[in-house]
Amino acid sequence: MRTDTGQVFKLEDYRPNDYLIPKTDLTFRLSPDATRVTAVLTIERRDDVSVSAPLVLDGDGLTLKRIEIDDKKVKPADLLATPDQLTILKPPAARRFQLLIETEVAPAGNEALMGLYRSSHVYCTQCEAEGFRRITYFLDRPDILSVYTVRIEAMRDEAPLLLSNGNSVDRGDLGDGWHYASWHDPFPKPSYLFALVAGNLGQLADSFVTLSGRTVELGIYVEPGKEKLAGYAMDALKRSMKWDEEAFGREYDLDVFNIVAVSDFNMGAMENKGLNIFNDKYVLADRETATDADFANIEAIIAHEYFHNWTGNRITCRDWFQLCLKEGLTVFRDHEFSADQRSRAVKRIAEVRTLRAHQFPEDQGPLAHPVRPRRYREINNFYTATVYEKGSEVVRMIRTILGADVFRAGMDLYFERHDGDAATIEDFIKVFEDVSGRDLSQFALWYHQAGTPNLTISSTHNPAAQEFTLEIEQSVPPTPSESRKRLMHIPLAFGLIGAGGKPVPYSGVEGASVEDGVIHIRKRRHMVRFSGVTERPAVSLNRGFSAPVTLSVEQKADDQFFLARHDSDAFSRWQAFNTLLTDALISAFREILGGKQPAFAPRLIDLAGSIAGDEALEPAYRALALALPGEADIARDIGRNIDPDAIYAAREALALAIGSANRDVFSGLYRGLADKDAFSPDAASAGRRALRNTLLDYLSLQPGGAALAAGHFQSATNMTDRAAALAVLAHRHHGSPEAVEALAAFEATYGSDPLVMDKWFQIQASVPGPQTVDTVKALTNHPAFSMGNPNRVRSLIGTFSSANQTGFHRADGEGYWFFAQTVLEVEKRNPQVAARLATALRSWRSLEPLRQAKAREALLSIAGAESLSADLRDIVERTLA
Ligand SMILES: [Zn+2]
Repeated sequence: MRTDTGQVFKLEDYRPNDYLIPKTDLTFRLSPDATRVTAVLTIERRDDVSVSAPLVLDGDGLTLKRIEIDDKKVKPADLLATPDQLTILKPPAARRFQLLIETEVAPAGNEALMGLYRSSHVYCTQCEAEGFRRITYFLDRPDILSVYTVRIEAMRDEAPLLLSNGNSVDRGDLGDGWHYASWHDPFPKPSYLFALVAGNLGQLADSFVTLSGRTVELGIYVEPGKEKLAGYAMDALKRSMKWDEEAFGREYDLDVFNIVAVSDFNMGAMENKGLNIFNDKYVLADRETATDADFANIEAIIAHEYFHNWTGNRITCRDWFQLCLKEGLTVFRDHEFSADQRSRAVKRIAEVRTLRAHQFPEDQGPLAHPVRPRRYREINNFYTATVYEKGSEVVRMIRTILGADVFRAGMDLYFERHDGDAATIEDFIKVFEDVSGRDLSQFALWYHQAGTPNLTISSTHNPAAQEFTLEIEQSVPPTPSESRKRLMHIPLAFGLIGAGGKPVPYSGVEGASVEDGVIHIRKRRHMVRFSGVTERPAVSLNRGFSAPVTLSVEQKADDQFFLARHDSDAFSRWQAFNTLLTDALISAFREILGGKQPAFAPRLIDLAGSIAGDEALEPAYRALALALPGEADIARDIGRNIDPDAIYAAREALALAIGSANRDVFSGLYRGLADKDAFSPDAASAGRRALRNTLLDYLSLQPGGAALAAGHFQSATNMTDRAAALAVLAHRHHGSPEAVEALAAFEATYGSDPLVMDKWFQIQASVPGPQTVDTVKALTNHPAFSMGNPNRVRSLIGTFSSANQTGFHRADGEGYWFFAQTVLEVEKRNPQVAARLATALRSWRSLEPLRQAKAREALLSIAGAESLSADLRDIVERTLA
């Protein structure tokens, strides 16, 4: 474990290293406790660097076994070797020389899962961001691009399969039960994209013919016996390869593309060149074990990692401050892929829900940072929703501003100009300025300035002058270390809508530049005047979620109801209904705090019924519309003095009111949606299941609800329906015989399938109420649970702390205490996973005072622990600051 040195890395301190490593030859002799790594590096001093400049290589917990320069031993006086750094004090006078370094590492004992480690007896690596320095001393930074040749030696019994990046060049026998394989990757790459896999794995093989007619061998490697579960992932891979050729003109460049699924993995997946390594949760699926959400995630993540081959690998980042250059852009690309494969409207709503649930609280709390941060203490803590999700929204806005064709021309120029480069955000913006002739400097603030901008908007119609006016004011709230904000360029898509949902025409507009249905907000205040407007329109704002902002709109409830029924923009129509639901929930919350029974407007309840039954709308859309805003979403909209119990009560009351008034409609729809055809994971079938399961949730609160859910559970023919029914029973009928029986039956059936048991842990960890902290404590002793496996920890502890508002925020603080102890326990093995967990308390200041005090005590108890890792200390100190 790397302890905290307190060092802060700053963007403005960037300078190229004095040395380059054009060529890297690695030999691994694998053994669980003592793997020998021999690195032969071709080192080149830059032209303008003095001969006396020392060569300083990064390490992390390494033991140096041997070092030679140009085949000669280096004298001890000429070097300085610590576990975390290797300094060659007097490098040779020649500009180019060869450095041999031998180190020894112990993969079996590596529980941090960074560098070379073992997962279920398979050797694998994770090097992003700084894991390569746990394998050998190196210039472990993304702007050092090197051509790698890798030779792997292993016992054939232990590791019949030997994989690395690039193309296979050689393999053979070594005698004594050993064998070897060599791989060569012709494309220069940074060390974070290095990968090695060795073990006994089953293979699903296929091939793909590229645009130019080359055949690429495809392989997905999984635990032997699970090959059949990789079929959907393979299909998603081939669709991704085709899509990237069509949508971006990008063709795959090596002869092979391999994916390996491992069961111990800190993240979702990793885009190592030609050898992606995946968390098995994002590869393995069939109807019996995976939900529709799992299928959609697999499709999206397979695509994401594949798309990195161009956005990330062929063009990489100059330094880690530019992480959004590869991540934001690649998330945008995978969103577009999924939108094309599924329903664009439904996908967009889901993306916005995710952004608001994860990025907005980050941007509005102590961990706020710009899409391109300017400083960090621990880069692992910057793999955030801001870098990924907001980063993607920024790319989407560039397309909105320039239009699809100019955007595509800009991307083409980016690939042409920067192929083989370690690039920056400035390089990225420049290509769009060059193809469009526009100045994007104000727009670039989206990369540099943290915080979610707010737009305050009001409207007036003057029938005599036939003028409609929108008064728009922008503000960006202060964030840590940025109290003063500059004015942003916000592209706000809008529509003026009249009777029957038709657009209201206007003859002219002044006060802002308005192009293709988008108002370009650049100043603090705009009075946007539309002339020739004869009838008062309802105004539909931020259509398609054109900008990641919050809106404070003075709008009549009549207009909101009108838009929720008639807006032709599917996203805004969903938004209008969601705003009505949120407003009703906030009023109910206040009524409950005031000791009153909440009451809901009958027309809102009726609208829920008519959306449910509107056959003109896709079932998946109806399911999303009927899903009430989450407790955390409501809390965010309330803003401060949060009492999670009152929010929960308000939400339950609204669910009960909607279900009671629409019971007959919902029951009829529920029966009609029963799956009659064979199972298919496609979007339309998944949408029908989603709607039926949403209706089940409402109906379960009605008389006979437990029996209905139990029947749904027993008759389920796929995991989507089974898990949904189990959640309804466990959450709505906690402790009932039906719930107890279903949980036991699920455990009996899937006890030996860890990925399915994760769902069982998740469902129990999210049961509302004060008793759940005890359930979670007890489940940490369940035989299927392990503190060493990130998926298990996230399912049980992560779900409890981030998705159980009433359990985690139990009024006596017990949830926080249990959480603090567990974070410290996880940290001993895996600092990265612990730090990620600890972000669950980032919004602690918005709680009511008593909970706030208890949350602070728990955070202080983590901060006060001895020898904290850099990862965890960084998060806890920023959260408390
Ligand atoms: Zn990525």
